[in-house]
Amino acid sequence: MSKAFDIGIEALAAGPQPATLGAPETTPAEAAASESRASESLPIAPNGKSFYIETFGCQMNAHDSEKVAGVLLERGYRAVDTILQADLVLYNTCSIREKAAQKVFSRLGEIRFATPRKVIGVLGCLAQQEGEEIFERAPWVSLVCGSASYRKLPELMAQVEEGGRRVSGLDLDTDETFETEITRRDNPIRAYLTIIEGCDYACAYCVVPHTRGPERSRASEAVLAEARRLAEAGYTEIQLLGQTVNSYRDPSPRGLNFTQLLREVAAVDGIRRVRFTTSHPNDFHREIVQAIDDTPVLCDHIHLPVQSGSTPILRAMRRTYTREEYLEKISWIRAARRPFSITSDIIVGFPGETEKDFEESVTLLDEVGYDSIFSFKYSPRPNTTAATMPGAIPEAEQARRLAILQDRQRQIQIARNEKLVGGTFEVLVDGRHESRNQWSGRTTSNRPVNFTSPRQNLLGEYVQVRIARASANSVAGEQVL
Ligand code: SAM
Ligand code: SF4
Repeated sequence: MSKAFDIGIEALAAGPQPATLGAPETTPAEAAASESRASESLPIAPNGKSFYIETFGCQMNAHDSEKVAGVLLERGYRAVDTILQADLVLYNTCSIREKAAQKVFSRLGEIRFATPRKVIGVLGCLAQQEGEEIFERAPWVSLVCGSASYRKLPELMAQVEEGGRRVSGLDLDTDETFETEITRRDNPIRAYLTIIEGCDYACAYCVVPHTRGPERSRASEAVLAEARRLAEAGYTEIQLLGQTVNSYRDPSPRGLNFTQLLREVAAVDGIRRVRFTTSHPNDFHREIVQAIDDTPVLCDHIHLPVQSGSTPILRAMRRTYTREEYLEKISWIRAARRPFSITSDIIVGFPGETEKDFEESVTLLDEVGYDSIFSFKYSPRPNTTAATMPGAIPEAEQARRLAILQDRQRQIQIARNEKLVGGTFEVLVDGRHESRNQWSGRTTSNRPVNFTSPRQNLLGEYVQVRIARASANSVAGEQVL
């Protein structure tokens, strides 16, 4: 498989998939992304400069870093594997929960004395949230840029290169998306493709509308052209990204809706799997289920964050749907001809959440039968309406609720995964764990599978695996030859 800007395969050979329940404050995607580090090395950097990016947060951030790296490569920078080697160090940050924000400030503290001659930049959500205040707290930072200003990155970089000390891009009021000539792809198996940026919802707990700006969709032609380029580069799996991916509205005269775009991306020659995340329940329509049901290339997995099982809490969160309306959408998915896997995000301990409200979240787990959830303790965020709501739930109580929720979900996952034992599934191989002599990959429903095989060099291959064992977070078996 030949692809532009691949990193070494060893980055993917980190072994079987991580536990989804084991890290309550970090999703697997966040964990993977937080460790994602730019490692592209071009032989010669015309401007003699090198860069290193550390990414915190979600897949959107991971993919933004790939595009930022593309901008830097275009400017003649060379990517290096360690901070020590880099002239320019960028932190692409997350501020979704307090912990994520604290982590960035501790990184900035660490780099202060260790690396006096480097140029330091803070990008992403924390950059937008804290703005120029970052220059006050960490005067060794030269660049602060929110994601809505990435389109201006070349001019901001030009100022930094001329020795600019407090260069900032903090404009939120935009209808433009971040288009790059080059994207440095960190994952040789799955390619991310942003179709919509920002968010027009106003969930009471969430900083995203304040850090990523208003919703703006990319023109369908640009999306499809990128999908075709990815297929030509050898990618067979594409993941469409957006904070509310299914709110997509083609701004071009073609005016495609999300489902129409899905069908067109799935029809691109060479693409075998198309995923998308994250869907907002409000924009989740029957026709999405219909499209998946009759298009095998569209993966049978839907991530549909519910946030709470209690209608009064959903109202307080401003989620725009009730428990019953959410469950109705789940019933459409369950009525599909193909069995879909359903996953979700849930917040516990939102202000005012009573024991009864919390129990409704627990019972929802059973009612839906999720294949996996990402669950979080509510974390108050600046500029959000929930931050000043009465009825804060103490940390210890939040932790107790989270443990109960996760324990129940673990039981559900074990039961669901055990049903797969004896079955054979197609797996796209994305990792190798030498010490266990195992390969790892994902089914179309995104289920992690670890397996043995007598064959070599399976990375990027589609193989059939017979499942012999199940645990809460993955299944295991052997390749069927
Ligand atoms: N756009 C997606 C949606 O509407 O579901 C969510 C994107 S957000 C980056 C990912 C998840 O972080 C959310 O689904 C929510 O569960 C969680 N989250 C967001 N703000 C939070 C907060 N203040 N405290 C705890 N969890 C939060
Ligand atoms: Fe945040 Fe809500 Fe927008 Fe999702 S839909 S990004 S949770 S404001």
